[in-house]
Amino acid sequence: MDYLPLFHDLKGRRCLVVGGGETALRKVRPLLEAGAVVEVVAPVIDSGLRELAASRSLVLVERAFEEADLEDKALVVAAGEDDLLDRRVSALCQARNLPVNVVDKPDLCSVIFPAIVDRSPIQIAIGTGGSAPVLARLLRGRLEAMLPGRYGDLARLADRFRGAVREKLEPEKRRAFWEQVLEGKIAELVYTGRNRQAEAAMNEALEEAARRGGEPVQGEVYLVGGGPGDPDLLTFRALRLMQQADIVIHDRLVSKEVLDLVRRDAERLYVGKTAGNHPVTQDNINRKLVEYAQKGYRVLRLKGGDPFIFGRGGEEIEHLADHGIAFQVVPGITAASGCASYAGIPLTHRDHAQSVRFIAGHRRDDQLDLDWAALVTPGETLVFYMGLNNLETICRQLAAHGMAADTPAALVEKGTTDNQRVFTGDLATLPEIVRRGGGRAPTLIIVGSVVSLHNQLKWFGE
Ligand code: SAH
Repeated sequence: MDYLPLFHDLKGRRCLVVGGGETALRKVRPLLEAGAVVEVVAPVIDSGLRELAASRSLVLVERAFEEADLEDKALVVAAGEDDLLDRRVSALCQARNLPVNVVDKPDLCSVIFPAIVDRSPIQIAIGTGGSAPVLARLLRGRLEAMLPGRYGDLARLADRFRGAVREKLEPEKRRAFWEQVLEGKIAELVYTGRNRQAEAAMNEALEEAARRGGEPVQGEVYLVGGGPGDPDLLTFRALRLMQQADIVIHDRLVSKEVLDLVRRDAERLYVGKTAGNHPVTQDNINRKLVEYAQKGYRVLRLKGGDPFIFGRGGEEIEHLADHGIAFQVVPGITAASGCASYAGIPLTHRDHAQSVRFIAGHRRDDQLDLDWAALVTPGETLVFYMGLNNLETICRQLAAHGMAADTPAALVEKGTTDNQRVFTGDLATLPEIVRRGGGRAPTLIIVGSVVSLHNQLKWFGE
């Protein structure tokens, strides 16, 4: 280990910054945020620092640095562009054992500023020993994305309840309790800004845990949209819930790559329906969701695309609500958006379509009985889900109800995945093109003049 990371309490302490330019300003800001009293010394001080000094406890001394400036300082930063001065400041500080940072010159530093992810009171400091600050910044970006913005609120809530938990729960039960709180329903309330409800839920959970002697309290269900296939299309929230769930209930449309991101030791339950074959009925799924949540599990109901678009998500949460089970719904990218983007077919376009309609291209018993005449609307893109088996009927009926037979149409197979294929033609030709190409589910059918843009807008290399 090249450096020992420490967190420095600078509240009310005097810090010196040597230098008056942009670099100095970048260091002054975090020092002020940490509550330090900052003194800036430089012959010329830029307007940025002057503006900051107007509103913050910042002392500007417009002259050359003198050794006496080091008196009574807790930390010194040299941010001058002058190499000789940097060396002198560094040497003087090191001789006095005064922590010194020289910007961008790790050799002259005794302390280094890390990249910071701030969720106060929780802070993450990332250091690379001064060797690759850009890498530290990239890593910070990833962590920023992973940690909910209100993570700090959760720490504060935990702090407020620490005493009460100690009072009410035996030491060996506390850890399980905290894990449930910090990764469960209460944390979710905090992340969505409902602090008052979180506080109430916390009181309730603690009472209940005390009553049950520390046994787990009721679980909850996350109804999460897993998107059309490419795992990069998951939302941050989806990923977070996937990584904390105890059990995942998923169906066929969820891609393997997405499933791979679920917490490794989570139990997996496949309830997929294959066309015409319903191995697990919807009633059964609904019942399972309730059962597992009642046992205290955090249940992830993972769906392809968006749970509220042809996903029966509404029915599932209705059932949960009836049984008083806590749940949350996380939207996903629906197949229409995913396939359209990855195939270079904008669903609306000023010159082509002013509206778009999502249609189920499949009915029970395979009798496709749609109001065809209503679907033939100029300037509208039609997107059929679950339509592969009825492709021929769809194209024939649209043409029979007045849509031009040469209206462009596309079929996107396994959209957004590495195996995506796009078949294009028109109402008259598409069924034959797909038949010859051996199109396989899942597929999406897009009808409308926007499809003509595919050749121009498809990704390079496709
Ligand atoms: N809730 C899902 C849709 C479920 S219905 C969503 O919002 O996307 C299932 C249908 O979605 C499939 O029959 C197919 O028409 C479509 N679909 C889902 N994923 C797809 C993909 N990767 N490529 C093409 N179509 C897809």
